[in-house]
Amino acid sequence: MTLLSPTLELAFDLISRPSVTPEDAGCQDVMIKRLEKIGFSVEKMPFGDVKNFYAKRGKSGPNICFAGHTDVVPTGPEANWKVPPFSPQIIDGYLYGRGAADMKGSLAAMITAVEEFVLANPDHDGQISFLITSDEEGPFVDGTTRVVDKLMERGEKVDWCIVGEPSSTNTLGDIIKNGRRGSFSGDLTIYGKQGHVAYPHLAINPIHLSVPAITELTNTHWDDGNEFFPPTSFQVSNINAGTGATNVVPGTLHTQFNLRFSSELNFAAIKEKIIQVLDKHQLNYDIQWTYNGEPFLTRPGKLVDAITLAVEQTANITPELSTSGGTSDGRFIAKLGTQVVELGPVNATIHQVNESVEAESLNQLAIIYQRTLENLFLNNTLTK
Ligand SMILES: [Zn+2]
Repeated sequence: MTLLSPTLELAFDLISRPSVTPEDAGCQDVMIKRLEKIGFSVEKMPFGDVKNFYAKRGKSGPNICFAGHTDVVPTGPEANWKVPPFSPQIIDGYLYGRGAADMKGSLAAMITAVEEFVLANPDHDGQISFLITSDEEGPFVDGTTRVVDKLMERGEKVDWCIVGEPSSTNTLGDIIKNGRRGSFSGDLTIYGKQGHVAYPHLAINPIHLSVPAITELTNTHWDDGNEFFPPTSFQVSNINAGTGATNVVPGTLHTQFNLRFSSELNFAAIKEKIIQVLDKHQLNYDIQWTYNGEPFLTRPGKLVDAITLAVEQTANITPELSTSGGTSDGRFIAKLGTQVVELGPVNATIHQVNESVEAESLNQLAIIYQRTLENLFLNNTLTK
């Protein structure tokens, strides 16, 4: 086997550990060992089955936090993998294994970047921290959100945060996420009265009653979005009603919907509007809400400038800022008043069989992270 770079060697070690959510399988201990060696003080913060840690180096000044998760999604059918999912291999320049892209490759790159930076600048200004969880792919209840609550309680200041989620689309660094949309779902049951279709005056048809309301909700203009977010959208994901018989008016209709919303709106305001529409149509209903998170947005500023410059210096491309995609742990960290961006490798194969990432791109990613630190702490020409 050819000699691996320190970043790839660490990525191999982490991928070899079958840390299917919420398992950590020793990944965090590997990271903690490396961080303690270069002067980090580490605080383990387990909650329930979930392992988390917060580590920090440096006494004062702005705090840049590297955030990520050691858990991975299940492998799917192992027989469909080119390599066993927890036995990483490089084939034709691509590193294969569960977590290679999401996001053990990024974790390895963060560690080696910080090691290099600290070696060259042992007395650096500011503080460097890590916030790592094993509950990002799972229910995200006992992970980053709990750690953030603890940090908030004690007034910990985190100025900047880089989440290692695989943000890149075609080539490393082409996309930096500077926000994410908010998301929530509704589970709506509309009640009618079951009866024979031949005697409609004795029944109340919940399908007929709900269609105008659902149509109004789907046609509602929620907002225009803004320069970073597309307009908010309401999508119906499921509708069920009826007994299967053609001569029965059903007693209930069950529907589910989801909203992805911009930073122009919030959960409470949208919820109020939905209830208003349902009440206007005089429906008899129950509704359950599942709230996945408020949107967050990091406007261009020192962090965006520093990481954009680092990508330009390393990959020779200018990254595009984007808020697309699902939710991420960035939304929890943003609650600390932190500027949050996400930058990681190409996401083409995440959550699939044969998850893989160009091996060299992880070495490049480590250089980008290291240069971001240099741009933040050593480059005085960047704006605040
Ligand atoms: Zn991830």
